[in-house]
Amino acid sequence: MKSSELFEEAKTMMPGGVSSPVRAIRPYPFYTAGGHGPFIKTVDGCELIDCCLGYGPLILGHAHETVRRAIEEQVTEGWLYGTPCPQELDLARRVIDDHPSIDMVRFVSSGSEATMAAIRLARAATGRQDVIKIEGGFHGAHDAVLVKAGSGATTMGVPDSAGIVADLVKHTRQVAYNDLEALESVLSSSEDIAALIIEPVMGNVGPVLPEEGYLQEVRRLTEEHDVLLIFDEVITGYRLGIGGAQKYFGVTPDLTTLGKIIGGGLPVGAFGGRKDLMEQVAPQGPVYQAGTFSGNPLTMAAGAAALTWLHDHPETYRTLDEGTRAIGDTCEDAHAGGSFVRIGSIFKYFFRPEAPRNYAEAKESDTARFATFWEKMLAHGVFLPPSQFETEFISAAHTDEIIEHIADHYSTCLSE
Ligand code: PLP
Repeated sequence: MKSSELFEEAKTMMPGGVSSPVRAIRPYPFYTAGGHGPFIKTVDGCELIDCCLGYGPLILGHAHETVRRAIEEQVTEGWLYGTPCPQELDLARRVIDDHPSIDMVRFVSSGSEATMAAIRLARAATGRQDVIKIEGGFHGAHDAVLVKAGSGATTMGVPDSAGIVADLVKHTRQVAYNDLEALESVLSSSEDIAALIIEPVMGNVGPVLPEEGYLQEVRRLTEEHDVLLIFDEVITGYRLGIGGAQKYFGVTPDLTTLGKIIGGGLPVGAFGGRKDLMEQVAPQGPVYQAGTFSGNPLTMAAGAAALTWLHDHPETYRTLDEGTRAIGDTCEDAHAGGSFVRIGSIFKYFFRPEAPRNYAEAKESDTARFATFWEKMLAHGVFLPPSQFETEFISAAHTDEIIEHIADHYSTCLSE
């Protein structure tokens, strides 16, 4: 069946025809038949260069041989035990060794679960109720963090979805990214703040980068106000390098959430932090957290294989950085009036003259121009995430030749 036909049927069975909203591309999404290296193949017979990469996890590209072999080996021994398995320790050792902030870790099945549990732990550990998040920061689809800012001046939460109890989200406060004054003001305004949760590099409004010294000051201010700092490294973990943003920027949070890359492309999440905090998680402590699929052997084996590969190929991060630099150089030459933002293997072209500093500025981008550009790129055989506000990625499978293709298509589609 063709994509258009599959989508017609899907709409009769699944809300919006999809399993996650961003996939509901209009008039219909393409359906994928397979993925290999930097490419995905559609059921309609097209081969596309993939710069979405499962929204980030596939830093080694699709069906990477090392990860595939680890999965195949594990599959022959079973893929779910409901008991502890040695593979959990392989991944835990890696994650703990690689992250300055992590003494102990708990594996879960998604980034959303990880941030939900980290916030619960922060509230329990401090005995306080409020959480600060960054406007436009995305931490998964659970109630406490599905809150958007009303305006820059409004710091009390307003639910961003139907069905969320207003009484709950009034404990979620918002500040703009890169705005230390706003943060200090909220921190000073209440004695009931448990934690600040922040993506060190904003990844869900397109990449928005921290200004020089911002994260260091965020650390200083949270410490000064005795508020726990949670780095949500679901995107940046193993993306900016081994040790994620905390190593890249030299800032150590109290708690860290991970996901995406650490599962080698299988469903995963994790939260970890200082021993005294993590010891409060059940069954060692009173903060309840549990999951049927947590630490399952298949994900653990795939994740450990992916992270081992990254450790064995440290040059990868430099090569990826050079890749996005090359794409950026070409974009600048196209003089299309927008701004190219990149860090490591993360990049985005904003249809806005200046690189945004925060959510409000990112929202000023010309989304209609992005939509046209996105369609052109797809017609040229490059699949970008279908939103101005979703980050683009390259992987270790994106060879120089593929990067050149992406850069050329970027240039052509921006100039047209
Ligand atoms: N945190 C961040 C920074 C994310 O980007 C995402 C998902 O994109 C999540 C949390 C939620 O992760 P998941 O989709 O695995 O639940």
